[in-house]
Amino acid sequence: MKPSIILYKTLTDNLIDRLKQRVNIIQVPDLSPDTLKKHADDFARAEGLLGSGGKVDSALLENMPALRAVSTISVGYNNFDVNALTERGIALMHTPTVLTDTVADTLMALVLSTARRINEVAERVKRGEWTHSIGPDWFGVDVHHKTLGIIGMGRIGMALAQRAHCGFSMPVLYHARSQHAQAEERFNARRCNLNTLLSEADFVCLILPLSAETHHMIGAEQLAAMKPTAIFINAARGQIVDEQALINALREKRIRAAGLDVFEQEPIDPQSPLLQMPNVVATPHIGSATAETRDAMAHNAVDNLLAALQGNVTKNCVNPEVLSR
Ligand code: NAP
Repeated sequence: MKPSIILYKTLTDNLIDRLKQRVNIIQVPDLSPDTLKKHADDFARAEGLLGSGGKVDSALLENMPALRAVSTISVGYNNFDVNALTERGIALMHTPTVLTDTVADTLMALVLSTARRINEVAERVKRGEWTHSIGPDWFGVDVHHKTLGIIGMGRIGMALAQRAHCGFSMPVLYHARSQHAQAEERFNARRCNLNTLLSEADFVCLILPLSAETHHMIGAEQLAAMKPTAIFINAARGQIVDEQALINALREKRIRAAGLDVFEQEPIDPQSPLLQMPNVVATPHIGSATAETRDAMAHNAVDNLLAALQGNVTKNCVNPEVLSR
């Protein structure tokens, strides 16, 4: 008999057909308590779980006693209680690698659009304000040859360093818990402590996982360590930053600008002061959101789930220790 899976994301017909050859699909809109109540029997017999965006914690797992494999259509897995999954012997699969270049492009886009004030001046042109040759009040600042600080030198951090170093001649600083020799050899990146990075970088880019350790890693004190001319970029997770402290720093002009793809609350409250500031570029969590990459992620997540259910996982497992049990 084919195993059942809960699918909490819309997939293309093509992928649904592929899945149907191996599993029975129970499509649900989300993982909310209401959905859980309505589909209690389906959740109870499901051996697989596939989607993104919902919280997978002990409370949900209590209702899924047959669960063997979970596959998220994302690289970040802060919505998952990894310890609870591991305790129950459930494999957690994710999609690193396929989105790396696209997210690095997003970071670079935020660097360029904040420094050159692309959104702001483009809006002024649309409002008809370009009536004569532009003056300094339209000018941005250079990106090339400026110092880029990367907090989190993983897959995406490396791809960002490559773009910055090879494409824009930028000296690269990085902060991570361990030394990343490849970044140093290939991109001449210099490892430094957080405070040094914050005080020397012209662009501070956040691209590391949200965890208990990184929650509010950037607060008032860290923002105060940045240069008043520096630009802050976050495409990691909103909760790594104390958003109120960021709002204060921008209001008081203690930093130049911010490029933000992620927020403490998503979708962001349309009344947020961040959205009123011309020097903030805010995007709706589009890090990996291109047609090609989202498609590749969905394929990858389906492959990952089927591999885990069939017991032939070779990669992309967050808690590989469950596989040897
Ligand atoms: P990765 O390859 O696992 O890299 C993460 C890096 O963060 C590692 O180099 C790690 O280095 C460093 N790190 C972890 N904890 C740290 C800490 N406490 N202090 C300093 N550095 C720390 O992950 P990735 O593929 O590059 O993705 C990074 C994150 O980007 C994801 O977890 C996700 O949250 C986010 N993301 C966002 C989007 C979006 O749409 N905006 C898309 C994709 C990913 P050490 O082990 O040496 O510390």
